[in-house]
Amino acid sequence: MTDISFLKREDYLEWPEYFMAVAFLSAQRSKDPSSQVGACIVNQENKIVGIGYNGMPNGCDDDLLPWSRSADDPLDTKYPYVCHAELNAIMNKNSADVKGCIMYVALFPCNECAKLIIQAGLKEVVYLSDKYHDTPEMTASRRLLNLAGIQYREDIFLLGKLFDDVNSRYHVSHCFLLLPAKKVMLIGLLWDTHSIHNNYYLKYYID
Ligand SMILES: [Zn+2]
Repeated sequence: MTDISFLKREDYLEWPEYFMAVAFLSAQRSKDPSSQVGACIVNQENKIVGIGYNGMPNGCDDDLLPWSRSADDPLDTKYPYVCHAELNAIMNKNSADVKGCIMYVALFPCNECAKLIIQAGLKEVVYLSDKYHDTPEMTASRRLLNLAGIQYREDIFLLGKLFDDVNSRYHVSHCFLLLPAKKVMLIGLLWDTHSIHNNYYLKYYID
């Protein structure tokens, strides 16, 4: 019998999968009832230098600010107040700057975050979904990122290797079935069908 104990594992997480998983884990900290987004900034040495998720500004009691998506008065929605994950990841950086870094984020960044990404000197954005592609915010964002020469690419990651066995709770095989030609982003929390929010993510990917 061959002793394989000297061989390394082959099914370890690749760097991009690992960083996107960190972004998604961070998103689970968000208190936003309708949208949980995480971002992870990585330098050229594959070191994480910033993590963030969407939330109200520091020191502003998030029980006193609205979380709704629509209201008669725009001031009663979350939009004027909430800080996006990209902003928080940049502001939370633990290095002198984030020049030349890559940002991993679930959603394509809006125009306001594109401004921050450009001014912070990031070189690339990797995202999973561009579901608001046709909105003015995303159109403006692409325009700015293109002009600034910042790369952006949509990617779908294979984290299925985190789960060797398929069980009803995580619906691993279901997802593979629906996206047979693509890799599927998969971490346990996201695909736990016992939770309403995680069901949301399930739909979000299948879209
Ligand atoms: Zn944004």
